[in-house]
Amino acid sequence: MRYSIWSLINQALTGNRNWTPVWREPEPKSHYDIVIVGGGGHGLATAFYLASRYGMKNIAVLEKGWIGSGNIGRNTTIVRSNYLLDGNEPFYEQSLQLWEGLEQDINYNAMMSQRGIINLYHSDAQRDSYVRRGNAMRLHGADAELLNQDQLRSLCPFLDYENARFPIMGGLLQKRAGTARHDAVAWGYARAADQRGVDIIQNCDVTDFLIKDGVCTGVETSKGTIRAGKIGVAVAGSTSRVMAKAGLRLPIESHVLQAFVTEGLKPVIPGVITFGAGHFYISQSDKGGLVFGGDIDGYNSYAQRGNLPVFEDVCEGGMAIMPMIGRARMLRNWGGIMDMSMDGSPIIDKTPIDQLYLNAGWCYGGFKATPASGLCFAHLLARDEPHKVASKLRLDRFRRGAMLDERGAGAQPNLH
Ligand SMILES: Cc1cc2nc3c(=O)[nH]c(=O)nc-3n(C[C@H](O)[C@H](O)[C@H](O)COP(=O)(O)OP(=O)(O)OC[C@H]3O[C@@H](n4cnc5c(N)ncnc54)[C@H](O)[C@@H]3O)c2cc1C
Repeated sequence: MRYSIWSLINQALTGNRNWTPVWREPEPKSHYDIVIVGGGGHGLATAFYLASRYGMKNIAVLEKGWIGSGNIGRNTTIVRSNYLLDGNEPFYEQSLQLWEGLEQDINYNAMMSQRGIINLYHSDAQRDSYVRRGNAMRLHGADAELLNQDQLRSLCPFLDYENARFPIMGGLLQKRAGTARHDAVAWGYARAADQRGVDIIQNCDVTDFLIKDGVCTGVETSKGTIRAGKIGVAVAGSTSRVMAKAGLRLPIESHVLQAFVTEGLKPVIPGVITFGAGHFYISQSDKGGLVFGGDIDGYNSYAQRGNLPVFEDVCEGGMAIMPMIGRARMLRNWGGIMDMSMDGSPIIDKTPIDQLYLNAGWCYGGFKATPASGLCFAHLLARDEPHKVASKLRLDRFRRGAMLDERGAGAQPNLH
């Protein structure tokens, strides 16, 4: 079924009785050309681009839970390409360009909303570093504008400019950034991949890898043995646990990140705003809830829930830039498991085991990367060479000392 205004009118006039399931529920076959482990955003996008752009057939996505149960359904939905480093910016800009055409590509309303992101600056030194970042962005074809305080005031009159501990001097604006609805992205990619013949197998836990003489030929799962020509792993927060089954120890730690949502309010936040002197970011959902977050909890964990000290720290961050937020009532919060790499940048690469490929290290920025990550992982799986915008996202950069340390925090995964 193709979604369009006509199909919507047709369904409305016939009592909405003829909608078909969004994807099939096939039983796994015993062999596929390519198996993707992990049905999050990245795994589903990889399968979609393998089928749609690289003409690959006979593909399965194996998901241990249900589609949308991982971080793809737990994030704060921010999409942007405001990176500094050469190894990162072209990749994230490619991703933003894919976001801009995504809904047409997958024929699904992902509620992509380019309302802009503003990174606040609070000192001359921080302004100068944003000037540098903005220049790097523009050199890679992205958009960036430095706002002074007057320009920022006209967009965000509610910010606390003078009385704050860290007075707000201005911001770096990327107008093409914004938000997309996270679970719609998962459903949309799943539907579009399914329509191109990809088998999406839910409730299929990958429990082991079939490896002989350094070659991976399949996986053991809760639904039996599945053999494959190539196996791509995209399990985000579970990366270290899953890859340990293949005998690999990776430069990745798992940490918890929490998200928070208030009751619905009338439109008040124009786009995404981030605090420059602490860790706090906020946007407003289409339902009106303020959606915000901050630091990771700071200890290793595989639990999808966090603790109160970070809750307090995040709320303090909000109060520091917009005291009005103190009047809003918190509705809910949750946590997700982040695959924090040692330099804060991702990995899309072959592993030392033949036919086993890795997509990981997304830290808390992997949602915005979903389209480019899928495209680049598909390229790697189909062609056996890195896509040009992911050429620096290699696993051996840690051994070679060629870090992509966007934040300059050193080898401290909890600080990226
Ligand atoms: C609170 C929070 C806020 C965030 N905010 C943002 C944001 O604003 N912007 C942004 O860009 N990023 C954000 N992120 C990060 C982003 O959500 C993740 O980096 C990204 O979703 C990870 O990729 P994924 O979608 O493929 O992961 P997931 O959806 O987690 O997919 C991995 C899948 O692998 C499956 N799996 C694990 N083990 C196995 C196994 N053994 N067998 C089979 N399947 C398995 C899991 O069940 C899961 O469904 C946030 C994350 C969180 C938690």
